[in-house]
Amino acid sequence: DAIVSLRNVTKTFPGGVKAVDNVSFDIAQNEFFALLGPSGCGKTTLLRMISGLETPTSGQIIIGGEDMALTPPNKRPTNMVFQSYAVFPHMTVAENVAYGLKVTGVPADETKRRVAEALEMVKLTHLAQRKPDQMSGGQRQRVALARALVKRPKVLLLDEPLSALDAKLRDEMRLELTRLQENVGITFIIVTHDQDEALSMASRIAVMDKGAVQQIATPSELYEQPTSRFIADFIGKVNLINAKVVSSSASKVVCDAKGLGRIELPHVGQAQGDIAIAVRPEKLKISEAQPKGASAIATEGKVRDVAYFGDTSHVVVRCKDDLELAVNVQNDKRAGGAGVERGQQVWIHWAPEDT
Ligand code: ADP
Ligand code: MG
Repeated sequence: DAIVSLRNVTKTFPGGVKAVDNVSFDIAQNEFFALLGPSGCGKTTLLRMISGLETPTSGQIIIGGEDMALTPPNKRPTNMVFQSYAVFPHMTVAENVAYGLKVTGVPADETKRRVAEALEMVKLTHLAQRKPDQMSGGQRQRVALARALVKRPKVLLLDEPLSALDAKLRDEMRLELTRLQENVGITFIIVTHDQDEALSMASRIAVMDKGAVQQIATPSELYEQPTSRFIADFIGKVNLINAKVVSSSASKVVCDAKGLGRIELPHVGQAQGDIAIAVRPEKLKISEAQPKGASAIATEGKVRDVAYFGDTSHVVVRCKDDLELAVNVQNDKRAGGAGVERGQQVWIHWAPEDT
């Protein structure tokens, strides 16, 4: 029931750049799947191979149960929305959307019906007779979406579809893309370097680094259980604290951590030697007095920075051994914000299970 299967897909460009390195995974029908990773990690190349615009150096791409090795882009059940949404400036919106059907010989009355349907999906019906140069960035983006949807692909490929939009419009379009995907029932594969975008829209995310897939998981799994330091660091903000394992059993790990001294953590998989302890800024608590309760991990420090963000404040505290911890505090109106000031001496603590 996979709609797209990648089997050991590798792409080496002439000159030797390995853009995609032995990637294998399945995407299920109807998923909203995201390829996420820093710029240059191979996302676009992978998407272009799925669409057929690029040929793998080795490996297989199977779509709808069929090996695509000999299938050109226009014969694949995929369609791509490009980063710079390519639309014809001299044609109206309706003509732009109709174009792809016309060139493949779809009869005029069917074309008309399908164009109307596609424009409806992206809420552009009222602008059908406009030219793209009289439209905003967000509207042009919808034209590009309609042009792809009108061909009724099984899989819609979107390369950084929101990157050209301003921040406010981007937030709106995120929600709209999610709704659109639910309504049309087409599998979406979206490429993005923006973790918030991937976390908020996708049902599953493949995180890529240097051509390889590091982890494939749901947004909450990626955030709560990152399998590597790279992912913990890339997905949201995180404090990484260097530590050395003293002893490790099935139920707990004892280690000496920078700025914290000897601490005990619940066991999570293999742990030995030098490790990095990851704890999210929103899990840390600040108090003026030393926390009571023996189980908390706690350390003392001095507030270096307080940045106000409306609902939260981001506080940086410098602790022993030059350990700097970032803390997100829920602002309190009565306290006039985070309730701490630069230079103040405070305690930071958190529950070991939140590590
Ligand atoms: P991303 O979309 O994640 O930013 P790309 O897939 O565009 O990454 O690029 C991955 C790597 O492959 C980069 O190092 C890039 O320079 C290289 N690359 C991409 N396209 C080509 C090409 N046509 N020829 C040579 N190198 C390329
Ligand atoms: Mg790219």
